[in-house]
Parts: sequence; C-alpha cells; structure tokens
Amino acid sequence: MGAPAKKPELLAPGGTLEKVRIAFLYGADAVYVGGTRFSLRAQAGNLDDEELALAAHLARRWGKKLYWALNVFPHPPELPGLEEALSYAAEIGVDGLIVSDPGVVDLARRVAPHIPLHLSTQANTTNAASARFWARNGIRRINLARELSWEEILAVRKAVDVDLELFVHGALCVSYSGRCLLSAFLNRRGANRGLCTQPCRWRYHLMEEKRPGEYFPVEEDGRGTYIFNSRDLCLLPRLPEVLRLGVDALKIEGRMKGAHYVATVVRAYRLAIDRFFQDPEAFQLDSTWMEELRRVSHRPYTYGLMFPESSFDRADVAHHTAYRRTHTLAGIVRRHPATHRDHPAHGLRDRLPVLLEARSPLVRGVRLEFLFPDGSNRFFEIREMHDPDGRPVDRVHPNQRVQFVVPFDTFPDQVVRMEL
Ligand code: SF4
Repeated sequence: MGAPAKKPELLAPGGTLEKVRIAFLYGADAVYVGGTRFSLRAQAGNLDDEELALAAHLARRWGKKLYWALNVFPHPPELPGLEEALSYAAEIGVDGLIVSDPGVVDLARRVAPHIPLHLSTQANTTNAASARFWARNGIRRINLARELSWEEILAVRKAVDVDLELFVHGALCVSYSGRCLLSAFLNRRGANRGLCTQPCRWRYHLMEEKRPGEYFPVEEDGRGTYIFNSRDLCLLPRLPEVLRLGVDALKIEGRMKGAHYVATVVRAYRLAIDRFFQDPEAFQLDSTWMEELRRVSHRPYTYGLMFPESSFDRADVAHHTAYRRTHTLAGIVRRHPATHRDHPAHGLRDRLPVLLEARSPLVRGVRLEFLFPDGSNRFFEIREMHDPDGRPVDRVHPNQRVQFVVPFDTFPDQVVRMEL
C-alpha cells in the first residue's frame, strides 16, 4: 500500500475558548467544541453562545475549522431548543455540526442546510452499508466506531466515498462509545451529552447479597478482568499504518482535558503527521514524541481495537491502570499590557517580562518548561518574580498573574509546565 494522497485533518478537542486557541496554536487544523445549550447548567468543558461565536471567528481568521458537537439524543422538550441552536450555528458560521441522532440530522438539514454534518462516534458506524446510508441522508463525514480493526476500516474506506474520521488518541469506553449509562446513573451526567465523568475508571468492589459489608475487589491481573476499566488509546507508534488507510481526519479525544494535554498531544501528532508527509518512505518515529505523550496525565496506552493483537504498555498495566502523572500545567502566558501601543511602557524595553497566569502554586526557584509549537521546549528557573503591579513576590497561587523576564521570546497562550 503506497502513501496516502492527502494529509488528513488533525482534529483536536476544545473544551474552553482558551483551549481552542491553544489547540490551533500547537497545530490542530480543526477543533470540536460543545455548547452549554444542552446542559442543565453551564459545564466546564463547554462554550457559551458568545464563546462559540468567538471561536468560529477565530477559526476563520486563522484559516482553521470549528465544529460544534450537537451529538445529543434529544428528549421531546429539547427539540425547540435544538432548532434554535441550529439557527445559531448557521448565524455564527461554524464549519460543521457533529450529530448522532437521525432526527437531529433531519432538523439540521432543514434549519442549517449549508453546514456540513459529521456523524459522531456515538452513532457507532461499523460498516460500509451504514456509511452509505448516512451519506445518502446528508452526512458529509463519518467518525467510525472505535471498535473497528485496521482491516475493517480499510474495507469501509475502499467501499465508500464519504469522508471518514478516526480517533487516534484519548480515553476509550468499555461500552460501545457513549452507549453507556454509568455516568448518568451515578453522577447525573450523561455520556451521550458529552458529560461523562468516566465512572468506568473508578474503583469497584463486588458484594454478595448475603454477605453485606464483605467486599471482593475487582482488579486486573495478568489474565485480565478489564470489565470496568480501559487504558487510553494512542496510535502514534502506528501512525504510518493509520495514515495509509487514507482517512480524512484524525481526531484526539478529550474535551474535558486540560491545556497541557491539548498542547502536548496536538503538537506530537502535528509533528509526526507533517514528518510523514515530507517523506513517507523514510519516516521514522521520533522518540521524543512518545516521551511527550507520556508527560501528560494518562492511563497506560493501548492501540485499542484497531491493532488488538499488539497493544503496547501491556506489561506496564498488568496490575493496575491508574493515571500516570509526571508533569503538570504551571501556567499560561498572557499578553503583556505593555504590548499595547498606548501603554506607557510600550517600546521602552527590548524584551518585555513574561506575564504568566499561574495554574499551579509557583514559588521562587521553580523550574518551568515553555512548550513551543515546533516541538522544542525551553527551561527557565524563576529567580525573581513580580506581581502585575511590579511588586516582588515569593509565591503565587493558581489563577494569579506574575511577571518575570526570560531570555527567549514567548507568545500569548503559550503553555508552560513543570515537573511534579
Ligand atoms: S462511563 Fe466509561 S464506558 Fe461509560 S461512557 Fe463513560 S467512558 Fe464510556
């Protein structure tokens, strides 16, 4: 099988407006977001209407794409609201709507006929007949079920013309994606509303009816027992095979994940995809890409069901699948006020201090790592720092801003991390 003809789109999660910007800056071609309209209250991990409009505007300005996930299975009272949301999507000009429910497909075709429809993984499309059905009914792109093997994906690819999208990275369900009520029952946060709290990854015990209080642990061992738990998908080491499938988009899971995850994972796949297309035959995996992916909070990685016979990290997870955490988000670079032309200090210094919005407690002496989209990282140890008014400080708390001078250029929304 030769090289695929075209580069697939790299599609990243954007749980907040800030993460939309970060995903674009670190190399995503497109970002998918959720809106607050279908939550009972505004949830972390969703954008309100104004933020959606800003995100769509930003995507246009930067030559990127913004997709709005409306992949709910709406209950009757929600239909009027859904219609309004579709009109709003048309008004602000999103580049695609991610849908699952046939009724929503129909409504969208009527209310927002010019917006391409992308079928969510929650529709669990597993074969070419399904793909053809959806294509006939107005779907432009299908996110194939994560439960398919490489050979099965190839068979679908060869049989249909509709755009195909694959998940390459992120959390996996132990049920058919999203067809699960655990989170809705235990937390009142439904998976098919994009709100899953992943209770399948919590610790469970088994209790026999006549032995109350005697708990039998449910654990994994060398033989398995993976009922309630899953490792995280990571197809980066198999990227050449994935790219040779000739799909149209590669998707990263994780709307609820943080800015460090978005920047790091997007950047690793961006660099790898670009390197592959420079010279597919000479492509080799750069070990730093995987090292980077191991620096974000993750469960042990697996190739999932695409390459079931050869999951990696297997030895590592024989006994438990707890999160691995080695680094954390230290802060996000903000635009320094003196970059504004009418600021009194504008142009007075060669190099302005970095203005960092802390996301972890920071003290003098901490070693920060600034992440750059080209794959490089620059380290800097804070010896002195000042608050935004110029007063020296020894420590800052999360969400406070602090400034200090670094010997290199930074940029707004740059992600800065530190070791735990
Ligand atoms: S609880 Fe687990 S299996 Fe169920 S939808 Fe959430 S991630 Fe998937």
